[in-house]
Amino acid sequence: MKIIISYFFKHRFLFLRRISQLSILILFILGNTSLITIASNIHIVFANNISKFEDYGKNPAIAIPKDTILPHPILEGNLSFSKIFNTIPLSDPLAFMQILLSGGAITLDLILGVIIVCGIYGVFLGRGFCAFVCPMNLITDLANFLRRIFKLKNSPIIIIKPNARYLILIISLILSFIFGFLAWESISPISMLHRSLIFGLGSGAFGVLAIFLFDLLIMRHGFCGHICPLGASYSLIGKLSLLKVEHNLNNCTKCHQCIRICPEPQVLGIIGKKSGTINNSECIKCGRCIEVCNDSALKFHILNLQNKERK
Ligand code: SF4
Ligand code: SF4
Repeated sequence: MKIIISYFFKHRFLFLRRISQLSILILFILGNTSLITIASNIHIVFANNISKFEDYGKNPAIAIPKDTILPHPILEGNLSFSKIFNTIPLSDPLAFMQILLSGGAITLDLILGVIIVCGIYGVFLGRGFCAFVCPMNLITDLANFLRRIFKLKNSPIIIIKPNARYLILIISLILSFIFGFLAWESISPISMLHRSLIFGLGSGAFGVLAIFLFDLLIMRHGFCGHICPLGASYSLIGKLSLLKVEHNLNNCTKCHQCIRICPEPQVLGIIGKKSGTINNSECIKCGRCIEVCNDSALKFHILNLQNKERK
């Protein structure tokens, strides 16, 4: 029993992240269902089954009585725009900027949604979206896990700098402005994956497979750490966020396990050199560095408003 408890404690942030990612996906799937009436009772057909339901003569076997699932959808929509309890809007800031620049309709819900999301990540969670919400993290973590098992190395031919994602972000916004369409949204593998998972459309599979293979065979954390403009946008939004990793030099044995496991190792520049907070907003707050540190030299820290760095 003690071994099990210490195993869960050792991987506490990993479990928390998986629970968060999967719960959000499940809530989206449950929220994006179709309601139909059979014999005066409301039934649910999951979004990915609605065409099957209609193609097979509205076979009631595909429908499930509504009351056995959820009385009210908790989360509806998709990662670009969603609503909690059909009341609280949440808008992806990058999608919002693309809609704005492409001349799309900006509704009050979209504006409120972007204020709420920027508030959550800007004030507190920083780039935590990548570690706790984005479904692509499940794919890229799997690729990284396999890389470690098979000791795969980066391709020496393809070199992309981590800052490339900011360039892609700027290009997406410029293209949206010039051509009047949501440039990144129309090719985003994250949106494709999310739509595939909640609506059952198979189109996202190739994009997701390409990213998995890219991360597995070409570049460690290739997509999230170098290309994704959505992650870049959350880095910019979360520059002043309060949740930070704190390093205690007195406990550090300079084993550098944290740097080896970190998906954004460039953020850990102070490790083994000085105590202080990890202020680089590219940190995704995944907690992996804290989990692997056996010397209690790292921990999460909130409200470090002075950003002190101690020798
Ligand atoms: S970098 Fe992009 S794809 Fe990766 S987790 Fe963050 S938002 Fe998702
Ligand atoms: S510094 Fe720690 S919390 Fe931040 S990205 Fe790296 S491993 Fe995750």
